[in-house]
Amino acid sequence: MDYVSTRGDAPVLGFEAVTLAGLADDGGLYVPREWPVLSRETIAGLAGLSYVDTAVAVMTPFVGDALDEDALRGLCAEAYGRFDHAAVTPLVQLDHRQWLLELFHGPTLAFKDVALQLLGLLFERFLSSARDTHLTVIGATSGDTGSAAIDALAGRAKIDVFMLHPKGRVSDVQRRQMTTVLAPNIHNIAVEGSFDDAQTIVKALFADQETRGRLNLSAVNSINWARLMAQVVYYFYAAVRLGVPERAVAFSVPTGNFGDVFAGYVAAKMGLPVAKLIVATNVNDIVARALSSGDYSSGPVVATATPSMDIQVSSNFERLLFDLGGRDGLATAALMRGFETTKAMTIPEDIRTQAAALFSGKRVDADAMGLAMRWACEKAGRVIDPHSGVALAAARASDLPGDVPIVTLATAHPAKFGDTVERATGVRPALPVRLAGLFDRQERYATLPATLETVRGFVLARGR
Ligand SMILES: *Cc1c(COP(=O)(O)O)cnc(C)c1O
Repeated sequence: MDYVSTRGDAPVLGFEAVTLAGLADDGGLYVPREWPVLSRETIAGLAGLSYVDTAVAVMTPFVGDALDEDALRGLCAEAYGRFDHAAVTPLVQLDHRQWLLELFHGPTLAFKDVALQLLGLLFERFLSSARDTHLTVIGATSGDTGSAAIDALAGRAKIDVFMLHPKGRVSDVQRRQMTTVLAPNIHNIAVEGSFDDAQTIVKALFADQETRGRLNLSAVNSINWARLMAQVVYYFYAAVRLGVPERAVAFSVPTGNFGDVFAGYVAAKMGLPVAKLIVATNVNDIVARALSSGDYSSGPVVATATPSMDIQVSSNFERLLFDLGGRDGLATAALMRGFETTKAMTIPEDIRTQAAALFSGKRVDADAMGLAMRWACEKAGRVIDPHSGVALAAARASDLPGDVPIVTLATAHPAKFGDTVERATGVRPALPVRLAGLFDRQERYATLPATLETVRGFVLARGR
């Protein structure tokens, strides 16, 4: 499988190179040259498979000849063997049509583990054969990517990780999951700014000639294609359990950087019968607005109880613009350059109309989120986290026909956001055993102003 950049001006790469590279040289994001399609029979045949076998079937066309099937199966078995539920991503029924897909049974209790546990193993495997052997991972996190990446990469010999988080804007559990990992290859940076400031700095480092010249950079944010690929799997896994391909299923996805829901779009492109992808946002609703009115303009970030969705620039939206805009890289590049200068863009109407056929945006405020969390607790006996609460609120407000099952992606364990959960439901979720002792461990991190110069200086002084 070949991968092309959304901005049309970077080398075409294979799966191994795309995994190690992250962002494309021209500032774009890599996407497969075409979408592989699974036949109806193949999809029907996924029905009884284990998570690992489903993963192999769904990912093989994207991996191409970079790994043989046994190697891919081995990596998946190792990655998903670290989850503490035998189904890996269990599907839970809430009422006659509402379902919850629990994606938080991995080591750091958020859905990011599904992709990053595999990505860590892919990095290690590809580095062991590559000549250019050291990798410097630079990432920005609104909380969950950082802890998942650090867990997946701590102690790996050929990798350094520089992880930027917005100071004071991640939960205590999230911060401690990152800063209590004291492995020498892990460098945590608290940036005095928002997540978008941190992400802007990371993008600028990737574009910076001096940094690129000295370090072999890679990304673990959802700009990395391999992450999205790993997330496509659970859409299939859930849908076939609800009767696909004999019927269509809808998904409600708590959205920030548009990575998770873009994986749902990929699943639909591969032939999965998806009735709707509900793009649930909090009051930072740039994507919901873009889908409903074409207005993709970013304002200041508002801090909410769902920090992993406090984003005003959704990187992966570029992949959708490229794909729906006829895959014209130069046109996508022009749109994105316009957005980068003015912080606003109007989605071309033909793209918006196509998007509206599959996606519907829904903005959910704090009250609606709390109500959904309380409903899940009182009516369905499930304590859910606030991000999942945003998506469940959107799912319950949907006007889809009554016979379409709606799967809400439950992206974090409630204990990661215990205060908000307790406020909404009166129940204080216990930290799972694997996090016992988190609050007794020593922390280590640097605090830096949100400027490119200081962060670059820090990275160059420590990078290898
Ligand atoms: C990252 C994250 C999201 C948002 O996912 P995107 O792929 O950025 O849209 C939602 N919920 C939780 C708990 C997350 O960690």
